[in-house]
Amino acid sequence: MSAPAGLRGLAARAPSLATWLDTHAETLDTDATLCGDVVPRLAEAGLLHIGVPTTLGGGGGTIGDAIDSVAEVAEHSFAAAFVLWGQRTFIEYLLQSPNHGLRDRLLPALLAGELAGATGLSNAMKYLSAIEPLQIRATQASASSGATRVPAWRVTGALPWITNLRKQGFVAAAAADHEAGGPPSIFAIAHNAPGVTRSDDLDLIGLRGTNTAALQMTDTPLTDDDRVTDNAPAWLVRVRPAFLGLQCGMSLGLARRSLAGTYDGGPGARAAVAEEAAALAEQLDTLAARLKSGVAQGEFVQAPAHLFELRIALAGVVHDAASLEVQTGGGRGYLRGLSGVARRQREAAFVPIVTPSLVQLKNQLAAQRTQQRPTGTAP
Ligand SMILES: Cc1cc2nc3c(=O)[nH]c(=O)nc-3n(C[C@H](O)[C@H](O)[C@H](O)COP(=O)(O)OP(=O)(O)OC[C@H]3O[C@@H](n4cnc5c(N)ncnc54)[C@H](O)[C@@H]3O)c2cc1C
Repeated sequence: MSAPAGLRGLAARAPSLATWLDTHAETLDTDATLCGDVVPRLAEAGLLHIGVPTTLGGGGGTIGDAIDSVAEVAEHSFAAAFVLWGQRTFIEYLLQSPNHGLRDRLLPALLAGELAGATGLSNAMKYLSAIEPLQIRATQASASSGATRVPAWRVTGALPWITNLRKQGFVAAAAADHEAGGPPSIFAIAHNAPGVTRSDDLDLIGLRGTNTAALQMTDTPLTDDDRVTDNAPAWLVRVRPAFLGLQCGMSLGLARRSLAGTYDGGPGARAAVAEEAAALAEQLDTLAARLKSGVAQGEFVQAPAHLFELRIALAGVVHDAASLEVQTGGGRGYLRGLSGVARRQREAAFVPIVTPSLVQLKNQLAAQRTQQRPTGTAP
């Protein structure tokens, strides 16, 4: 039996990136020495252009193609795939923003990998699910100047977790509540805006090469030019399929790599799990096809529960595939530096907790089922 074809994806599309990631996957997970290199390398390989219209300087294609590219990178390095997710998702925010001035100003540097895009929207996603309040507050600071009114705000607050806060320069998307009332906005906050402070990298157990840190804003002045949307809840519902679809790409790639890893065990070990591995591979193909068609057709805007179910199912496959790889790897997997088995265990542990977390989605689906149940019916 030959290894699954999935491993050939990035090697065919971007061979030097694939080799670089294979060489440095362990380093990207365990320390920050290469954290400045990831975004430029992803750009150089052309991955940031995928699914971006050619009229906007991209390479064309669909969001499904972008999901595939995240999956391909995740087969080699989950840390790099997470960075790609952050960067490509930020790019997607601009593509779906009504603020074309902001899009046109930031897109070229983001596509070129000169500027890192970070998405600090876990807080907003949790807010949308009524789990926590928004953690950033915008106060009106505008003044009339002649006949032209220039709206401006000062924002204060903190986000405890943001990935891709590249030290060389970043812009981060964050949702802010308006003191004056009305729907919250989402702003693009530049690393060098007044009052913006990036913490040191967080002391993570893995994914340490991802530039993950906390971000504090104190009286940071922003104008309408920095505003991605003036109606965060409505906009997030439309953008969530791409946000979550790209994130699910990470699960697809990791699960595929773990299943491929079961081929590295001896023939006896391989035979013992062959049936389970084949069933998981088939499940992955079905989930990937459902995911991409649902995102492409806009199904998940109207029916987010379908997307949540896919995310939960994919996390289950990631868990089962990682476990099969441990079983077939034997003691070799427990020795440092001999395989990526232990790293993939750490990577798999991240899948259930990244927002929207599995517990969050399970509660949301349960709440939806309760709402849909006719009154007086027992659970
Ligand atoms: C390495 C790393 C990188 C990250 N990068 C980013 C990033 O780039 N951008 C970003 O925005 N975030 C990022 N996060 C944050 C991440 O997506 C999750 O939001 C975060 O880990 C969960 O927040 P918490 O631990 O504070 O959860 P808590 O609020 O402490 O909650 C614990 C768990 O319970 C769930 N929960 C809480 N209340 C409820 C409820 N009422 N109903 C159902 N479930 C509930 C939460 O979703 C969570 O899973 C990152 C996290 C890590 C570990």
